[in-house]
Amino acid sequence: MTKSFLIILICCSSLLFCTQSNKQINQEFDVSSAVKWTMNSAEYQIITEHLYRTAAQNIAAFEVPKESWVVVMDVDETLLNNVEYNRRRDLLGLGYSSESWAEWVKEEAATPVPGSIEFVTQVLDKGGQIALVTNRERELDSYTWNNLTALGFPINRNNTCIMGRSQVDRNSVGMEGMINDKDLRRSQISSGTAKYCWVDNMEVKEVWNRPLSIVYQVGDNIKDFSRTTQKNVVIKAFIKRISSDVLLLPNAVYGSWD
Ligand SMILES: [Mg+2]
Repeated sequence: MTKSFLIILICCSSLLFCTQSNKQINQEFDVSSAVKWTMNSAEYQIITEHLYRTAAQNIAAFEVPKESWVVVMDVDETLLNNVEYNRRRDLLGLGYSSESWAEWVKEEAATPVPGSIEFVTQVLDKGGQIALVTNRERELDSYTWNNLTALGFPINRNNTCIMGRSQVDRNSVGMEGMINDKDLRRSQISSGTAKYCWVDNMEVKEVWNRPLSIVYQVGDNIKDFSRTTQKNVVIKAFIKRISSDVLLLPNAVYGSWD
């Protein structure tokens, strides 16, 4: 009796173990609604392209200032769509990690946000410069640049400067006039002190080493705009700036609201 009971117990335990193992192996994680919306919806395509077209029309009608001018743009979910990265992470049941993100950036596989190439083209045709102020790590700038140029963004070192985030940017938050970690880079661009824009390309120094008037800011995160955070933004005042000097794109997948 005791022996039979022992055999039954072993069988049950084995069956339970096998069932749990199979469950782990076969388990599939779902993709979030935000990722599906970005990947599959007509709405995302329509909204982003509409916003960019409107902004491009504003630039076309824009009265060019006497001084040299620049449009400051974010990169992720502004110029480059990284939803494939988020889809992969969702399927693994994992979230963002700096290591997996760096690997993704090095793939140079991000796609263009609808309307973004046309907008950049309009700015450059109008005689403006573009500063890409991104929170991708500065060490990854070459991969970001390659991704953008391969997609057909008409950028070169003369008309566009890319500035990834450095430790100096992180440390600057809280210093005078530095509300978010992109404020330092924006101030460097506008004052003509963004040495990073020419240090490896001295032939473009004169283009960037001069005061530049920031006429437009484009991003998907409230911190892509000067001295703005989730906490201090005045919504109604910000809305009034849309169509004049700011363009805010949708990003339901991640943000400083998260
Ligand atoms: Mg972004």
